[in-house]
Amino acid sequence: MTDEELLARADAIAVRAYAPDSGFHVGCAVLTRSGAVVEGVNVENAAYPLGVCAERTTFSRAIVEGFSPGDFSVAAITASPCGGCRQWLAEMQVERVVFRNGGRIVRMTVDELLPEQFDAGELA
Ligand SMILES: [Zn+2]
Repeated sequence: MTDEELLARADAIAVRAYAPDSGFHVGCAVLTRSGAVVEGVNVENAAYPLGVCAERTTFSRAIVEGFSPGDFSVAAITASPCGGCRQWLAEMQVERVVFRNGGRIVRMTVDELLPEQFDAGELA
């Protein structure tokens, strides 16, 4: 599956976003190393801080489906991932991230997205 095809999956799922407050629909599609694709959308809440980004719903769904950090090769997102989601992408050990930003398609590694990231090794 190409990056463009995976991004098209993210575009398609974005229509299911629950975004009554912002109207900003975001989709995320993650390609696993086994070839499966897991999708998610942003889910807002009237109590704004409780809303969840598309990346987080995608990885939460993937964990429920039995995937683990390290199982993910590419994440495609319809918008630039926020700072918190960059930490999630790092935690999930995604190999590569593809997203739209200002009309461009950007491809980056997680290390490029979030240099000097916090990791579980710091908790010891
Ligand atoms: Zn986010």
